[in-house]
Amino acid sequence: MKAVKLSEPNGSVTLEDVEKPTPSDGEILVKMEASGLCYTDVHICDGDWAIVDAKIKRDLTLGHEAIGVIESLGAGVQDLQVGDRVAAPFLRSACGKCKQCRRGEENHCPNATALGMSHDGSHADYVIAVADFVARVPEGLSPEQAAPLACAGLTVFSALRKCGVGVGKKLGVIGIGGQGHYAIQLARVMGATVYAMDVDQEKIELANQLGADKAFMVTEESIIPELAALDMDVVMVTAPSHDAHRLAVGIVSFGGIISLCAVPADETPISMTASIFKAIRYLSQGVGTRQDLSDLLELAATGAIKSHVQTRPLSEAPQALDDLRNRSVVGRVVLVPD
Ligand SMILES: [Zn+2]
Ligand SMILES: [Zn+2]
Repeated sequence: MKAVKLSEPNGSVTLEDVEKPTPSDGEILVKMEASGLCYTDVHICDGDWAIVDAKIKRDLTLGHEAIGVIESLGAGVQDLQVGDRVAAPFLRSACGKCKQCRRGEENHCPNATALGMSHDGSHADYVIAVADFVARVPEGLSPEQAAPLACAGLTVFSALRKCGVGVGKKLGVIGIGGQGHYAIQLARVMGATVYAMDVDQEKIELANQLGADKAFMVTEESIIPELAALDMDVVMVTAPSHDAHRLAVGIVSFGGIISLCAVPADETPISMTASIFKAIRYLSQGVGTRQDLSDLLELAATGAIKSHVQTRPLSEAPQALDDLRNRSVVGRVVLVPD
């Protein structure tokens, strides 16, 4: 079978022929239908995050937004059957025993394993997933539409819930990429007022199409007073850039929340003084729980939100990663088997 392999962080990315894996106890073998490309793939390739370097498998198959059909079951798998269509997310497994797991925050489990990072991922013809950590894909939701929900959609959905976004709340979304385009739609469904911000006119147009109450180009700092006057309860940062984080500090309401959904490649210098005087609360988000994923897929199957995707063959993965790195992708790239 084909797989998109990263030799090591900062190493080469190549399409290779590899042996088809066999599921162990509690695992399933999934025949891939669609695998979303995520900026995290770029971070892993570029060795951006020293804090997780030791967790990155060498000779790794990339990919963690997996949709496919179960081809075989490992021993002990009871709740799934061959032929079921499932979503396998970045959270490949969590321990179920630690403080975070026990209080319902399994996505922040320190003992978690991660698809396409600690274990081989889904940019391949087949992937091995842990049965207890996949979600069923409801009828009526196509693999291409479902794939980016497993990470980009899930991260912002879980963050919006955690930040209490809903009727009467004002949300700012900085960065209308994969995550941002879901955040606008989801926050509208939840009843919030949504202000979108980006530095790219094409993404501003996308934000308007998706129902943002207003969209702003944020290329000039002079716009900060106008944005601050909107008194946003929550500002979600979905762009992995220092400017985006600094903008969030400048415009969030006093006592407001900055929701951190994108991880920059290096440390962001932001003002602690401004953070304290404005009583800003920071809530970090890394993907979401299994329940969040199931709820999100059910919601998407109703047609309430749409994934803005372009499909490309698996063999184009190295080029597609470059395009993502160069910020020339609008919406989300989904890889499909050649
Ligand atoms: Zn991701
Ligand atoms: Zn745990």
